[in-house]
Amino acid sequence: MKFAHDFREELSSEDFPLHWVNSAIPYGQLKKVLKKVIRELSDLGFEPETMRRLLDPTADSPVALRYGLDITGNSRRLRPRLTVIVYRQNDVVASAPLSLSSYAFLEHLAFIQSGSCYRGGSPEGEDHGGDPPVHPAGSPEGPYLRDDKSQAMQERIEVPLVSDNTFFEILQSDVNRLEALQTQEEKSMKDEIVSLGLEVAHLTKPSRLSKNDLDRWRAIFELYLEAQVFFSTLERDRGSRNSHAAALRLRWFQDEVAKRRLSSQFKMAQSREALLRFMRLNAVLLKNVRFQELNRTAIHKILKKFDKRTSLGVSKTFTQQVLLDRLLASSMAKDICAQVSTQLVSVVPRLDDFICPICFVIAYRPVRLTCEHVFCIRCVIKMQRRRERYCPLCRADAVMSCSADSLDIELERYMRKYFRKEVKEKAQANEIERGIEEYGPGYVHSSCTVM
Ligand SMILES: [Zn+2]
Ligand SMILES: [Zn+2]
Repeated sequence: MKFAHDFREELSSEDFPLHWVNSAIPYGQLKKVLKKVIRELSDLGFEPETMRRLLDPTADSPVALRYGLDITGNSRRLRPRLTVIVYRQNDVVASAPLSLSSYAFLEHLAFIQSGSCYRGGSPEGEDHGGDPPVHPAGSPEGPYLRDDKSQAMQERIEVPLVSDNTFFEILQSDVNRLEALQTQEEKSMKDEIVSLGLEVAHLTKPSRLSKNDLDRWRAIFELYLEAQVFFSTLERDRGSRNSHAAALRLRWFQDEVAKRRLSSQFKMAQSREALLRFMRLNAVLLKNVRFQELNRTAIHKILKKFDKRTSLGVSKTFTQQVLLDRLLASSMAKDICAQVSTQLVSVVPRLDDFICPICFVIAYRPVRLTCEHVFCIRCVIKMQRRRERYCPLCRADAVMSCSADSLDIELERYMRKYFRKEVKEKAQANEIERGIEEYGPGYVHSSCTVM
């Protein structure tokens, strides 16, 4: 009762679009059908306790039950199948101590086998259409044949369960509907990422003739990466975050952007609009994650209830056969975040990707060794003076052969364009270092003298 209420409350209070709410798992309806399932089973003499005993593969009983979900046809329709296996010896049910309820069940079975008009257990007495009432499965000795009964004849009878079928029909079509919704949402988010990526590329493009917001966007994306809104790479909470944790991280990111007044420092009005779109995109993804989480919980709860009331142990099978790769909030978030990273955040080059691995500042002027590793020219000169032959990253014998020709001019130009401030600072630091080397520690760089 409680969950049904909470689920309804959450769906209505979280400001989900109406068409989402209409696609949510109909928990209440499934609960009603579950009641019918229980009544149907009980009409057949299958109380949960009896079921549990007969379904136990290790139990020594002349009658056993097997239950599973079959996937049929191209539509991959899910069909629950309850099979009764009777072991007979000399045409009588092999003797074994049976509980009263099992006897009741056997009587019922005898009734079924006598060919009488079996109407199933549906309380409303629904018609089963033209189907033969009982289908002997007719399968040859299957995996259930036990050694100790290898001499016995084995008979399999499939019991048609109407409400059980209905239950899984509803559940499966709900999952399909949710999946379609998820695909549609994912598509519109991906389109937005592409369009936003183009817009940010335009707003951050360095140009001599016009303003740009390169530094502001770089700062925003640095913060965004630091926030790790949907995923954590930290040791203590590695992996995808649930919606609650993601909401906290998103709030942190928004607060930091506001605190640093990055939005008000934009030089271009379109940047403000683009930032709003970026925030909205994250909010929509968060909402999707939350919605899927709620629906998965609803599915999990109803299946748990199903198992508890029927002993049919279907929760695991359903999860494995139907849910495994679907409705995974984390996989959707993973897809979207991967695209945000490749098509949006990477539009603005990050300083981290242009750092010299020796001095940890921008690798200006960049020297590319024959092993393809890039260092700043000062660090390479110092290595050569110390006669260190090997690349510190891959140990290739590549340092001494390095010359002025090893300067990566293209990369140098790129750094000057996208990292003006860092390049300027680094060039100045290099000059000071060279000055000290040449004139001693008393050297004062011209830019440092106070006029
Ligand atoms: Zn360096
Ligand atoms: Zn190397």
